[in-house]
Amino acid sequence: MRTAPTILHLDMDAFYASAEQASKPSLRGKAVIVGGLGPRGVVATASYEARVLGVHSAMPTAQARRLAPNAAYLTPRFTFYRAISQQVMGLLHAMSPLVEPLSLDEAFVDLEAGGAAWDEASARGTGVRLRQEIREVTGLTGSVGLAASKMLAKIASEQAKPDGLVLIEPGTERALLGPMSVRILPGVGPATGDHLRRAGITTVEEIVEAGEDEVVRLLGKAHGHGLYAMALARDDRAVVAERDAKSVSVEDTYDVDIHDRVRVRLEVQRLADRCVRRLRGAGLSGRTIVLKVRRYDFSTLTRSETLRGPTDDPAVVREAAARLLEAVDTTGGVRLLGVGVSGLADYTQEDLFAQAAGEPELPEEETVEEAVPDESAGQAVERRWSAGHDVRHSVYGHGWVQGSGLGRVTVRFETPEDKEPGRVRTFRTDDPDLEAVDPLPLVPGGPVRPSEAVPVPGPGTEHEGRAGRASV
Ligand SMILES: [Mg+2]
Repeated sequence: MRTAPTILHLDMDAFYASAEQASKPSLRGKAVIVGGLGPRGVVATASYEARVLGVHSAMPTAQARRLAPNAAYLTPRFTFYRAISQQVMGLLHAMSPLVEPLSLDEAFVDLEAGGAAWDEASARGTGVRLRQEIREVTGLTGSVGLAASKMLAKIASEQAKPDGLVLIEPGTERALLGPMSVRILPGVGPATGDHLRRAGITTVEEIVEAGEDEVVRLLGKAHGHGLYAMALARDDRAVVAERDAKSVSVEDTYDVDIHDRVRVRLEVQRLADRCVRRLRGAGLSGRTIVLKVRRYDFSTLTRSETLRGPTDDPAVVREAAARLLEAVDTTGGVRLLGVGVSGLADYTQEDLFAQAAGEPELPEEETVEEAVPDESAGQAVERRWSAGHDVRHSVYGHGWVQGSGLGRVTVRFETPEDKEPGRVRTFRTDDPDLEAVDPLPLVPGGPVRPSEAVPVPGPGTEHEGRAGRASV
């Protein structure tokens, strides 16, 4: 482990919601919830004002509506968020060649690799400067954690939120971790947490006290050793630059060989879903689906299939993995399964958030505050106006859709530069003077679209894949 706190973790504060508040003066200081607005939608990001009311990400939107009935509910605008993300990632790349993005608004940076920092003082200085630059360039705030390992840097940025910086001095890690819940450790989800609790272990210190043998006995070899090391604050994981990540894959080793073919298929599906979540988390997609099978006799097979274009659609990856499995004989039993995607591209579909939030898919129609009976069924498709998306009216100028339904669309006319909330007007949904437009930059002169042109499908455009229909 290094001895200086030169691993930086950046996490933008309530990213999607903050971007919307910066974009829409009338929402500043208000509860804002960005997510799927349909019946099965989930919250992607809640503003801090909404979090006070108990709303958090991955919560069903219906539940959020009960907790925060007066909040603004908006559909995500990924093209917009991606443009801001690129500005932020650009600042990180200027500090170091080793930047590992975890999602659109989160990344690790190895400051030593770039020569940006070598000790505590230089690390802190770099973190302070980065936060300033992010504010200047994007108009938004991000929190910074600095530590000697990835695990601690991430814990530090969590403690720094919102709009802060925390540096964990090397040597103090164990004292800091000791009283914390085991859930703070990477890889400890609700299931592992429950498992440990039943054994009387709730804090990190209790893992250390239990001893490595006991933890391995409880959790198995692979997980147990790793977790025990983390509890001792031993984390040597390197920051891996994005371009070095040529494939994204996940695999599981089973304590007991799996013989049941149905179970094998289910495991492969589960791995495919997990793989796609990771892929999307990194803002990537890939063309080649890889299945790995280690059989009872340790013979290992890999099978792959290359698609016509890159995908991050869970259904596509699942189906390809299932096809590949059909060609593998597993009658003797399986001890390891893996699913990977390679041939990566920066391209992603517009429904990133559905999977990130653990939902199988976003409802197709994300237009309005309340579900609207579709008057146009069987006729020409009615123009859809997605809540929160930008429009221009030939007379009133730039605004955004506050809501629509029953043939009407309500628009608030304001721009990011306005100090006061703008006026609201209502139009017919087929008003020829109204058109969908790109968002305005949050900082004058800044970009509003990702630098490589990502096609933005308009209403009614066919998307690739079953789940690729989040509104744009
Ligand atoms: Mg964040």
